Amino acid sequence: MLQDNVLQDSFGRRFEYLRLSITDVCNFKCNYCLPDGYDCDGDRDFLSLAEIQTLVSAFAELGMRKIRITGGEPALRKDLTDIIALCKATPGIEQVALTTNGFNLDKKIDEFVSAGLDALNVSVDSLDPRMFAAITGHEKLEIVLDGATRALELGIDKVKFNAVLLKQFNASQFNDYLNWIKQRPITLRFIELMETGDNKVFFDANHVQGGVLKKQLLAQGWLPVIRNKLSGPAEEFFHPDYQGRIGLIMPYSKDFCKNCNRLRVSSKGQLHLCLFTEQGVDLRPALLNQDIAETKTRLVAAMDDKVASHFLTEHKTGVNKHFASIGG
Ligand code: SAM
Ligand code: SF4
Repeated sequence: MLQDNVLQDSFGRRFEYLRLSITDVCNFKCNYCLPDGYDCDGDRDFLSLAEIQTLVSAFAELGMRKIRITGGEPALRKDLTDIIALCKATPGIEQVALTTNGFNLDKKIDEFVSAGLDALNVSVDSLDPRMFAAITGHEKLEIVLDGATRALELGIDKVKFNAVLLKQFNASQFNDYLNWIKQRPITLRFIELMETGDNKVFFDANHVQGGVLKKQLLAQGWLPVIRNKLSGPAEEFFHPDYQGRIGLIMPYSKDFCKNCNRLRVSSKGQLHLCLFTEQGVDLRPALLNQDIAETKTRLVAAMDDKVASHFLTEHKTGVNKHFASIGG
């Protein structure tokens, strides 16, 4: 339904934040996501610029204010700068964000910022080059950090670093991360490893509970930050002795879905009401026809089907075999 011209579901949750995947191709082999790399046999019929324009216009007319561009690896698309620019130029869109593995950020960030990028999330699964390579399959830590540093120099105040803590890999480096943000005014977010169709064995061996990290932070004097309406899924914490902040994304925590404020569209134009849904809603025919009115009709109708919560604790991981296909 529409409430005050904003998409809303039957639980009263309002959706002003879209996560838009623009490709499912990725050049990294993160061990928790695509351990064998991208399956090159898949078709690559991703949304065109014109389809993205139709989609973003329809969402903006339904009260969407923030768009996060994700993937796969979104920076593999040659027209990413144009996509950022078109999102930014769409009336109603206040914030354009990007989630990237940062592989070419050092070369491209100036262009992205000129096109209107407001916020950036960069995955940094370790601060130790060898561990980074062990997790992602690439020796690119320095390039990734250089790109993120340049983003900060360019004045993007919302640069966040994402890390998935893994029991058998980087979990023992938790304190190194804390030391890293002591003198740096940045936000570092730990994403709790989620089970997907593809990673069950890996998940069982590597899952670190977000609640345990939270207890550890509170015991060390970290304090919760008040959330605002456009906040992402993270619970944030600050500490008087640290310039940086910590975010915890804890999808297994009891109330995680209560504050859900985002919808997802895949790179092939499927609306996903949740990261773990069994089925998407096909927006592609309307997008191909550049039919904003029909796209809006489908979006409004879909809201009634959004369920209260995911069923991750019951190991129901949904249609997406890994997050590269939907953007995390
Ligand atoms: N390739 C980009 C990147 O890695 O930042 C964007 C896409 S990636 C799917 C988006 C986010 O999802 C990344 O921060 C990644 O660490 C996270 N992610 C992927 N698989 C995950 C899983 N099984 N559990 C938790 N986070 C996951
Ligand atoms: Fe690629 Fe991102 Fe998945 Fe890593 S987490 S394999 S960078 S899509």
